[in-house]
Amino acid sequence: MEIVTTIADARRIRARYGRIALVPTMGALHAGHMSLVAHARNNAPCVAVSIFVNPTQFGPKEDYTKYPRPVEEDLDKCGAAGVDFIFAPTAGEMYPPDSPDIVVDLPSLTSVLEGKHRPGHFKGVCQIVAKLFNIVQPTAACFGQKDLQQLRVISAMVDALDMPIDVISCPTLRDPDGLAMSSRNIYLSAEDRQRALSISRALMLGYAEFRNGIDQTNRLIATMQRPLLENHLNIDYVAAVDADSLKPVEKVEAPTLLAIAARVGNTRLIDNVVIMPPDMSPARQEEAGEIIDQDD
Ligand code: AMP
Repeated sequence: MEIVTTIADARRIRARYGRIALVPTMGALHAGHMSLVAHARNNAPCVAVSIFVNPTQFGPKEDYTKYPRPVEEDLDKCGAAGVDFIFAPTAGEMYPPDSPDIVVDLPSLTSVLEGKHRPGHFKGVCQIVAKLFNIVQPTAACFGQKDLQQLRVISAMVDALDMPIDVISCPTLRDPDGLAMSSRNIYLSAEDRQRALSISRALMLGYAEFRNGIDQTNRLIATMQRPLLENHLNIDYVAAVDADSLKPVEKVEAPTLLAIAARVGNTRLIDNVVIMPPDMSPARQEEAGEIIDQDD
């Protein structure tokens, strides 16, 4: 495995390969990230992982400086998973002083949900992902459904700017108790973690209610809010939106994203599931995303 920190070296290594699948990450790698690496492996003979905590996607009051950076452990995990090359630049390498501001934005997708609660977040995401794509020039790039809005934004950017890259959508990995894996879970105390479980439980309750015949989203939203409030989570949003356009819907008539963002103490967590009418084709079901496995 080769590890490079400069754009020039990344380009030099990239030139050795034909097809490359890229997994962009901010490090603090967990099994969810490593599942993306496995998907990448299925899509190209060379797998590249980028590790970069991107300052431009954090708000001024967010956790940029304290975001975990366990570099050695990350490299060990990538080595064990057979990653071919790591691009781990510094902030100075990616954003030299005096580099001009550049904005790629897709307001119809970025003005809602995360974009509404984290102003400027997706501008930072699009900026860094576009730069990584231009540096590594992957033929495929893997993103997790855990951040479904991000996946939609990146897919739309790739389409709109005619980038020759297959965007691969990968299912959310969860701990056995249902909590979606996240680099931020390490911030949680044992007690906070118990309270955080109300997020995946809320999504499962929403899904179960839908399976029991309730398709009005205001009722599903009310059901999902309940466990979050009982556990004193600070809710940013509990939403039901069209899984493609991310526009709010009143009834589940097409693939619908149930999405939650909430704070447990100082830790902000997000999670989602996609639900859809039972008569949707299996192909559409797969495309829309993974539903939490659960017994009714
Ligand atoms: P991050 O390092 O949090 O920016 O995430 C890097 C990539 O890993 C993104 O495409 C995420 O959607 C994906 N990811 C994060 N958590 C999970 C998870 N629990 N399961 C699957 N993919 C994930």
